[in-house]
Amino acid sequence: MSDSFARRVLAWFDEHGRKHLPWQQDVPPYKVWVSEIMLQQTQVATVIPYFERFMQAFPDVVALADAPQDDVLHLWTGLGYYARARNLHKAAQRIRDEHNGQFPETLDEVMALPGIGRSTAGAVLSLSLHQSHPILDGNVKRVLARYYAVGGWPGVKKVENQLWAHAEQHTPATRCHHYTQAMMDLGAMVCTRSKPHCDHCPLQADCLAYAQGTQSEFPGKKPKKTLPVRNTLMVVPAFGRQVYLRQRPAEGLWGGLYGFLECDNREQAAQTLRAMGIDDCQWLPLTPFRHTFSHFHLDIEPVLAMSGAAPLQQVAERAERWFDIDQPVTVGLAAPTQKIIKQIATVL
Ligand code: SF4
Repeated sequence: MSDSFARRVLAWFDEHGRKHLPWQQDVPPYKVWVSEIMLQQTQVATVIPYFERFMQAFPDVVALADAPQDDVLHLWTGLGYYARARNLHKAAQRIRDEHNGQFPETLDEVMALPGIGRSTAGAVLSLSLHQSHPILDGNVKRVLARYYAVGGWPGVKKVENQLWAHAEQHTPATRCHHYTQAMMDLGAMVCTRSKPHCDHCPLQADCLAYAQGTQSEFPGKKPKKTLPVRNTLMVVPAFGRQVYLRQRPAEGLWGGLYGFLECDNREQAAQTLRAMGIDDCQWLPLTPFRHTFSHFHLDIEPVLAMSGAAPLQQVAERAERWFDIDQPVTVGLAAPTQKIIKQIATVL
């Protein structure tokens, strides 16, 4: 291998890289794919138990495709970024229907699946089938941006293209699966976001950011903008120790997850409750809190609407249900819904 960058990275991997993660043992593309999606925006240690539960419930791509979306979202509850889970499920159905249940083996076919970009597709094919493809996840972006002192935020196309060109340049034709894992590990373990361990880095000798002492400047930060604030009243209809949850539309915020009623104000809430057959209820405000999305803050004012009479409709459809607060909820819940359930358990 003539490229000294790749050679050094591989030698470092042989000595220090991670080789015993659950998705590194017996690695069909399906397993690697699920792990890669879970690892986006989430640390390895957090992912491991989720990954193991997921594999137990859906041991192969067809099992995932055939599962109800509620079950998939339920096993994702707590990982956040639920669009990842919905896309995973949709992609599994496409693989079942359009690829005979076999995970596709070309980069273009894999990239055509929902929720899989070029880097994830490259990582899956490289790690599982030992094909040679460059990757550019957050860790690799950081290593390359520092090594080459590439300025600017990688969310900007021009910066991203520069980083892709560097990634392509060093991706080896052989041992690409080790190189892929090595670059991800190097970013996670050595070239860390804050306080990188440059003295343990195989790239230190010619890393530009190290030479200039400017590691913290790369990669460039996303330009800051002030997030707008929205408000919502989250109404929790309750009867005895039962609370009402409704499934949200498949697309949009918290798509497919279960949540409480969202209203602009008490009058609107009372109207909605009347339509559900709950006429007379006692209001009990819970503790308000803020949930922040990438593009806005949501100030949530939760309130319990305690009904003295049994609700008219009982668990008729899957899309809206009364749940016993003392039983574990087996559908997908957004983080604020979980937070409110915890609050309710202490007041009901
Ligand atoms: S020398 Fe330091 S900044 Fe440069 S790639 Fe290695 S860990 Fe990152």
